[in-house]
Amino acid sequence: MAARGRKGSSTGRTRKKPAKKRGTAAKPRRPKVRRKTPVRPAARPTSESFQALRARAGRILEALKKSYPGATTALDHRNAYELLVATILSAQCTDERVNQVTPELFRRYPDPAALAQADQGELEALIRSTGFYRNKAKNLLGMARQISSRFGGQVPDRMDDLLSLPGVARKTANCVLGTWFGRNEGIVVDTHVGRVAQRLGLSKTARNDKDALRIEQDLMTLLPQESWTFASHALIWHGRKVCTARKPACGTCVLNPDCPCAGKV
Ligand code: SF4
Repeated sequence: MAARGRKGSSTGRTRKKPAKKRGTAAKPRRPKVRRKTPVRPAARPTSESFQALRARAGRILEALKKSYPGATTALDHRNAYELLVATILSAQCTDERVNQVTPELFRRYPDPAALAQADQGELEALIRSTGFYRNKAKNLLGMARQISSRFGGQVPDRMDDLLSLPGVARKTANCVLGTWFGRNEGIVVDTHVGRVAQRLGLSKTARNDKDALRIEQDLMTLLPQESWTFASHALIWHGRKVCTARKPACGTCVLNPDCPCAGKV
């Protein structure tokens, strides 16, 4: 004998769907949208061998040395602490703007111990014009407090120690280590270096000009270590003055003979 009330049973009755609990109605699923990463392949011809690429990078470096002898940072500073603060402030901001803000900032907070005691609101007001001022103020306070408590008030000169400070990533650490301490531990890849390196086709692995870590690694394999800090600053100046984002001056660019993007941007 068939069980009563079962679906498909001889009684012909079908089981009722369980009533939906209030408030638990399933929401319509949104279709998954995969965000596309803007891919800008390096301009380097695919047929170029590593040796040829390295030779080209060498010629580019020599041209930069002639055009920007002694290139260094445009950020005003008198010591490692000031350079570290200015470099943190320079994120998403021009060096000119940072240089307008730092004189008063350094007058009020001349060292990490003074900055560690700063009132966050006052600090935010001082650096407001550099953008992202809340986050920057938080990082500056955290950085100053850690330098005071962990490093005896001195800016550390080791990569690992610098990277352990709030607001300090490789770009900032490379800038401070190379520019102040004279240690070529890496290459500063800011927006200018990323763009110029990609146009020059110097990075084989970077997905686009924002891929700072890969661009840095590729440049480090191509350029001699003793030139890393100089190359960073020279490329930054070249990006500001000649190979600008919107209108690169390829016609007068000294890197033109070695640039696969010359006249094509
Ligand atoms: S030739 Fe043009 S694209 Fe190439 S580095 Fe010079 S300005 Fe930039």
